Amino acid sequence: MPSDHRYVEDPDPVDPLAGPGHMSSAEFRAYGRQVIDWIADYYERIESLPVAARVRPGDVRAQLPAHPPEQPEPFDAVLADLDRVIVPGLTHWQHPRFFGYFPANSSGPGILGDLLSTGLGVQGMLWATSPAVTELETHVLDWFAELIGLPERFRSSGPGGGVIQDTASTSTLVALLAALHRASGGEVGRAGIGAGRYTVYGSVEAHSALLKAVRMVGLGEAALRLVEVDDATLAMRPGRLADLLAADVAAGATPALVLATVGTTSTTAIDPVPEIGALCQRYGAWLHVDAAYAGAAAICPELRWTHAGVAEYADSYAMNPHKWLLTNFDCDTFYIADRAPLVAALSVLPEFLRNAATDAGTVIDYRDWHPQLGRRFRALKLWAVLRCYGATGLRAHIRRHVAMAADFAGWVAADPRFELVAPHPLSLVCFRLAGPTDEPTTDLHRRLNAGGTLFLTHTRVRGRYTLRLAIGGTRTEPRHVAETWAAIQAAAP
Ligand code: PLP
Repeated sequence: MPSDHRYVEDPDPVDPLAGPGHMSSAEFRAYGRQVIDWIADYYERIESLPVAARVRPGDVRAQLPAHPPEQPEPFDAVLADLDRVIVPGLTHWQHPRFFGYFPANSSGPGILGDLLSTGLGVQGMLWATSPAVTELETHVLDWFAELIGLPERFRSSGPGGGVIQDTASTSTLVALLAALHRASGGEVGRAGIGAGRYTVYGSVEAHSALLKAVRMVGLGEAALRLVEVDDATLAMRPGRLADLLAADVAAGATPALVLATVGTTSTTAIDPVPEIGALCQRYGAWLHVDAAYAGAAAICPELRWTHAGVAEYADSYAMNPHKWLLTNFDCDTFYIADRAPLVAALSVLPEFLRNAATDAGTVIDYRDWHPQLGRRFRALKLWAVLRCYGATGLRAHIRRHVAMAADFAGWVAADPRFELVAPHPLSLVCFRLAGPTDEPTTDLHRRLNAGGTLFLTHTRVRGRYTLRLAIGGTRTEPRHVAETWAAIQAAAP
């Protein structure tokens, strides 16, 4: 039977984008301009939108056709549905009164850098698959290490170096894999993990990515020790860590990794890295520093105290420019002092990836630095951000938010109805209504978010329901913080 699926000749062979069913170059230019205009308009009107999505589960899907399109549609139809179906189902993370979680900064250079990466459509799994992808990434990460004051041993000139991961969670995972490789002399990769043999440590305030990593590598939750924190600072108590390490070693376990957090997710507590690092050295444990949010602050010399001990002790370090440093999601910078155990833990070289540069051992192949093989051109947007803002612009961005948080904390402290519940070293302020029960604070939170003009998230501090005001949005100005405080005061009992 003759097939209907015959190849249709390219109607316009000189147009590189046109082909059977493809967008022509002229259409691409026209729609591309429309898309950029759409994004610019979105940012211009974002303040007028309700910050949090107001849809119920299933509302978005109910507006989508049950079946995929059989016939091609024009791109205008996609854009129209963006306004009609998608935008009402969004929480607007770039809204200047979005104060939830931690920010996920976006910026013009970040967006355009990402767009260029998508437009180029190259794959950087090996140096050989597109040398500029690897070399720009290595170079930009060396620049970035200099900007945030990381030590020489995290730069590509020695045995260590940096790589862009998608997220801090992936950094925690690969740090653990490298640590297990080192602790076991490679046995974990060959023979698996002996039950009960390796132990992992973080404070009770460490990000849940640590628990996830412990599960993913197959250690199981029983291997994870969550160390108590100081009641006032909410930072890890090194004395408790020392007790746990000693007890585990006495029981025959090998401490593989300790995760110290610089800027915990709940309250931005800063674990005492110098004391933790000294214990890691004593017990031969890997020290991974998770500075996902607070790492950005180190670009300001006066805030670099937050990184005390990192230069002396960290085996690996991660921070997210996609949180508070103007680089669109996703972008996590991961640094390692000795890349050998990481590459040994993750390198698998099938025949179809073999090439002369890899065989010569003279290049970095980033596929050996993370779980996945393929990778987009990740460094372009960070490169664009670093160049377009310069260190001066990035420092100004951080300092503005730190100053706004100090003002907000002062207002909270001056109102006897409220209390500050944790130190606020950077730009997160944790507070609640004073009093013996949580109910007034949960009720206040619900009413504030329902209003649509601002968005806060919560945590528990010492077991008590606590509101978090995370300042750090690209477009957040002092007036947005002042308006938010006025709304909180007006709604408070
Ligand atoms: N670590 C810390 C301290 C965090 O605050 C967060 C997220 O807020 C993470 C890790 C996880 O970040 P990611 O989404 O990049 O995995």
